[in-house]
Amino acid sequence: MDTRKLKQHFLIHQLLMWSGLAIAVLGALMKPAVLWMLWVGLAVAFCGLVYRVIFVKCPYCGDTMAGNRTLPRHCPNCKKELDD
Ligand SMILES: [Zn+2]
Repeated sequence: MDTRKLKQHFLIHQLLMWSGLAIAVLGALMKPAVLWMLWVGLAVAFCGLVYRVIFVKCPYCGDTMAGNRTLPRHCPNCKKELDD
């Protein structure tokens, strides 16, 4: 089965999370703090979390793998290989 889409979805999730957190931290560090940047950054990071729950799933059994920080080589639920 094609696992490229799974990797693409995981990459998009990572991009949303890290860029959102970067925007939020930048907003918080500015003097005076830029509150809209903080909230936009947190919203983008939250979208990254939601994106992961919706799209980063095992192509075989549909498990969300939400507990894993990185993309595992094998599905924790059905144990099928995800890295081919
Ligand atoms: Zn699975």
